[in-house]
Amino acid sequence: MGDVQGHAEGDENMSEIMGLKAKLGLDVFKHDKEPHIKIKPGMEKDPRLKRAILVCPAGLYEENQDGEVELTIDGCLECGTCRIACGTEVLEWYYPAGGAGVQFRFG
Ligand code: SF4
Repeated sequence: MGDVQGHAEGDENMSEIMGLKAKLGLDVFKHDKEPHIKIKPGMEKDPRLKRAILVCPAGLYEENQDGEVELTIDGCLECGTCRIACGTEVLEWYYPAGGAGVQFRFG
């Protein structure tokens, strides 16, 4: 198969070889003073927040045994998908301060 929507066949093979977790592991994350995304207090069980578990490409949202959604900020790609999917009524979302956050190392 040749190029498909701008992706060369070699790109597809690289994705298969490395896998998503390995590629994300190449990125570097620098901590900000405060997490740049926070679940608003009292919203941990809000159904809108559960969308983030499905859509976060880095898999940073999880539901605990009490049915609360938890976020681990390390590894955030700053893509904004959770903000769009869940909304700002349940998430406080800002970009990290300059010098903090993700540094992409692949692609
Ligand atoms: S901004 Fe993107 S990578 Fe970061 S927590 Fe939200 S969905 Fe996940």
